[in-house]
Amino acid sequence: MAIINPDLCNGCKVCLMYCPLGVIRMDGEKAVIDQENCVECYVCSRNRVCAKGAISPAEINTKGRTLRHFLSDPTETKAATGVPGRGTEESKTNDVTGRVKQGHLGICIDMGRPGVGVWIRDAEKVAMALAQAGLNFEEASPLTAILKDRRTGEIIDEMRNERLLSIIVEGTVPEADFPKVIAALRVVEKEIDTVFSLGVISRVDATGRAPFLTQLDGLGLPMPMRGKVNTGLGRPFVND
Ligand code: SF4
Ligand code: SF4
Repeated sequence: MAIINPDLCNGCKVCLMYCPLGVIRMDGEKAVIDQENCVECYVCSRNRVCAKGAISPAEINTKGRTLRHFLSDPTETKAATGVPGRGTEESKTNDVTGRVKQGHLGICIDMGRPGVGVWIRDAEKVAMALAQAGLNFEEASPLTAILKDRRTGEIIDEMRNERLLSIIVEGTVPEADFPKVIAALRVVEKEIDTVFSLGVISRVDATGRAPFLTQLDGLGLPMPMRGKVNTGLGRPFVND
């Protein structure tokens, strides 16, 4: 838990600019942290943000606060993924991992970024909506590790009311089910108190095209203006 020592704080307000969620505020002449909304990312206590040394991490003594820290601090490496951060390497390394097969799409719902944050109960709503649409949750995703039931997308009860900097709901669906995913997102986006972006991972066919792109017009979605393409990394490990 990040705490501010009022005896050391001189009220300079520098730390307010560094908190990515804006949960440090002034209480009179002293800075204080809104602990309910703090996600334990420790940005404020790194790199000498406070020249007075007034901010420091204190011992975290609950599972929920530990979860906030491990999923919100980008310097922590997750046992479930083997990489720092709250997602997996899937989007960038499918040529190596082969998680998204031909005829399937990888779906990444990146929630809470930038600078908004996300309650896990809202991630659960998205996970449950996508489970109904047929999403097969990604095994190595941190969110999957806190699911109570992978068929429904329900999350372990004691984690539901924790808050994170961001989280990714990840998995795969058959390409034919992409319209169901979009329909589910259009309903659930009205029920959550945060922002999200949709990332789609697609294998290309023999002509170098991603066939799912032809569905976008019919779904009322714009052609994506940006993407990540793996080139020049060597021969793919997987071809199926
Ligand atoms: S940077 Fe340090 S001294 Fe300045 S307001 Fe924040 S806690 Fe107080
Ligand atoms: S730990 Fe992160 S969320 Fe909490 S006050 Fe510090 S910078 Fe803000």
